[in-house]
Amino acid sequence: MKVLILGIDALEYNLVEEWDLKNLKQKEYGKIKVPITKNLKEPATEIVWPCFITGEEPEKMGYVNTILYRQPFKWFFENIYTNINSKQGDIHPETILDKRTKKRELLDILSSFFKKVGFSYHPTRSNIKAPTIFNYNNKKIAHFHIPVYDKNVFPDYRKDLVDVISKKTSIPNFTKSVKKSFYNRCNELTEYLKNNKDWDLVMMYWFCLDGIQHAFFKNKLKIMDFYMLFNEFIGKLKKILPRDVFLLIISDHGQKYGIHTNHGFYSSNINLDMKKDNITDFKKIIEKKLEE
Ligand SMILES: [Zn+2]
Repeated sequence: MKVLILGIDALEYNLVEEWDLKNLKQKEYGKIKVPITKNLKEPATEIVWPCFITGEEPEKMGYVNTILYRQPFKWFFENIYTNINSKQGDIHPETILDKRTKKRELLDILSSFFKKVGFSYHPTRSNIKAPTIFNYNNKKIAHFHIPVYDKNVFPDYRKDLVDVISKKTSIPNFTKSVKKSFYNRCNELTEYLKNNKDWDLVMMYWFCLDGIQHAFFKNKLKIMDFYMLFNEFIGKLKKILPRDVFLLIISDHGQKYGIHTNHGFYSSNINLDMKKDNITDFKKIIEKKLEE
């Protein structure tokens, strides 16, 4: 059976339910448990997606922090510095605007210095130690923009987001660039599916809902706009899919008031009868479907 996975960052279960987005819900859907490491206190994109593709918790997947450190100060960074630094969490509008303290600014300067001199770096594919759903020799597999696993996942993402929150770029400009990146990835997937008939496993990833919900956390209509875009796209996509496809939609966390929520979302076009509902459970299900 062919398996198509749509990875949608920050797709919130409660909003899909509230707005009754039928194409996103599919036949079976629900909340899922996602890994939260002790240093971070909220689900992080760079950790949850590699856990999803490996089916392992962070320790076994390969790392537990979103920034990794080299020797000789590895111990200091992992145990002391990360602890001070990560209280910040992801890009929260209120921490950028109102609570932007001297301490935060100093930590940001330190962090970029550490990166520059090579003490710290962002995890890449080589840091993922467990086998992934993409490791089959006998299957035709395509993956697009998978966090950590692929390159060029978030083009200018963090900068754009900080710029719009701190009003350095206008809201229409930001919205335009987010929409552009949304459509680019939709087209990339559609083109692939139209031009390739013999694929086994395809996964596409979108980051745009995360940024939209961080930036416009007070503007529910704006957020709804983007949820509708996804719902509409999936409706269209289903029309061009072959009949025997397992379509899995999955998210690494949701958002509420611009802050990551502690659960992800999944939906499936076939009954899975999920009981434990953990994001690491899907690797086995995907493998099973590929063999069917
Ligand atoms: Zn986020």
